[in-house]
Amino acid sequence: MPQGDHGKAVWAAGRRLPASRVRQAVPAGPVTRALYRFVEHTIRHEPAGGVTCELFCTAHDCGEGSGSQSEQGTAQDWALRHTGLNPGHDLFRRVFTDHARVTRAE
Ligand SMILES: [Zn+2]
Repeated sequence: MPQGDHGKAVWAAGRRLPASRVRQAVPAGPVTRALYRFVEHTIRHEPAGGVTCELFCTAHDCGEGSGSQSEQGTAQDWALRHTGLNPGHDLFRRVFTDHARVTRAE
């Protein structure tokens, strides 16, 4: 399960700034002036959003899947039944999803 993934980044106008540009941007032209304020944000795993598990059968032309499940065991039970009913369908692609929250540092 993904956990503990977090990091810091500084974004301006929708673009991630390289570390060298952080806290350097106050351009002022000769006639007009513009002030840019950079705001630090942090992104980290949000447990309250839950984690989902979904399994997909990889057998040629099958295309069946467990559907998104909040319990990993439910998705795995589907795979066990699927293999039992379809010998040879024994390899599954597993997809886990979690949620991440971005918070403003100020
Ligand atoms: Zn299958």
